[in-house]
Amino acid sequence: MSTSVVAVVRYEKPLESVGRAIKLSGGLDHLPPKARVFVKPNIVLWTRRAVFPKWGVITTTRVLEDVIAHLKERGIDDITIGEGMVLFDPKDKITPSHAFESLGHKVLEKKYGVKCLNVFERPFKKVDIGCGVKLNFNVDILESDFVVNIPVLKTHHQTVVSLGIKNLKGTIDVSSRKQCHSADTKKDLHYMISKLANKMPPGFTLLDGIYTTERGPSVNGVIRRSNLLVGSRDVFSTDVVGAKLLGYEPHQVPHLVHAAEDRNRPLDLSDVEVVGEKIEDVASFHNFDFSYNENGLLPTVMEKRGMSGVTYRKYDSSICTYCAGLYPVIMAATMQAWKGTPWDDVEVLTGKVMEPTHGKNSTILIGKCMCQKNSNHPNIRNLIAVKGCPPDPKALSQAFHQAGIEVDPETLENWEQNMGLLMKKYEGRPEFDESLFRASSAG
Ligand code: SF4
Repeated sequence: MSTSVVAVVRYEKPLESVGRAIKLSGGLDHLPPKARVFVKPNIVLWTRRAVFPKWGVITTTRVLEDVIAHLKERGIDDITIGEGMVLFDPKDKITPSHAFESLGHKVLEKKYGVKCLNVFERPFKKVDIGCGVKLNFNVDILESDFVVNIPVLKTHHQTVVSLGIKNLKGTIDVSSRKQCHSADTKKDLHYMISKLANKMPPGFTLLDGIYTTERGPSVNGVIRRSNLLVGSRDVFSTDVVGAKLLGYEPHQVPHLVHAAEDRNRPLDLSDVEVVGEKIEDVASFHNFDFSYNENGLLPTVMEKRGMSGVTYRKYDSSICTYCAGLYPVIMAATMQAWKGTPWDDVEVLTGKVMEPTHGKNSTILIGKCMCQKNSNHPNIRNLIAVKGCPPDPKALSQAFHQAGIEVDPETLENWEQNMGLLMKKYEGRPEFDESLFRASSAG
């Protein structure tokens, strides 16, 4: 049985630590001379209206720059940094440009001659990734000779972990992303995600674990400084080791189970050789899930406050990133609105598969998918439909008012600023180092 080498390295020094991960894993050994290289960091989301905690959410500029420096050292000149971040308006060109500027990627353009590319400004090509699943991928990554995939080492509230394979979701178009969050119980999110790397050019995956994230993938998670790098030429092997480092057996991660089946690979790491640090010496458990009460009808945090008269069914994998992005803000607004008097039995439903419960006084359907599925459902007494894909925050606040839940419209409408406030808990902690998200212009 052939084995794949995965390097686990402590992040200690700029350039050197990434160099060690590349050397130990042989990550760039098969890089063709004069290759066109596509570098895929993870810039899951960005906003111009608040300073989000980048730690554990976005790939550090430090690791990105170090990878580019090593590519340049090998004589590679054609390097593209490409990302398709979550944008509420995919035509928005200003936010991606602002992200590239703020994260120092524009400095890297000048310093190393690389290009920064927002995939939504480029063409997509339909690709059959197996079993009849067709998704639209960015052409630049498909047509490159070599892909350097640099996700963050983090958990994900829907997919358990979000590592190399999952990071490629940022290279498909919006309709394909929505297609991934399918209501089909067989071809569900996990199934779709597992196939994202199937038609990729050869490459090197490097997990950036300088910061790691509990309850990721976004800013409402809890970030830790972990100082780890994990690299391999084989994305599946990188991901099973990454899952172990976050405290999960690969068989606990549904998309890795599917990916193993596709590749005819074991999940027990028996065909993976780990070099560098031992997994057991550096692994630590990172919770991926938000906690709900026993019947799954209310987040524990709401139950602890004694909130009643409202049910928030636990979100499922069919809610896509756009609606899911609003979910924590809706919850925060509901908690702020709680004054100790039970509301009038309101049910809030999201995603594509939930069914209204019989006997509720009001049912709020969030998003176009829920409205299409359930607007005529016989269980609904008082229908409050918030259409839109994703729904408009103003319409959301009106809907809650209609149900008698007096949310503060400002909390929902200024959700970007309010999400930014979550970073306050990291202020004054020296391990949360802004300089890791900047590039120095010195050559
Ligand atoms: S309404 Fe929400 S869940 Fe449905 S496709 Fe749009 S963003 Fe996704």
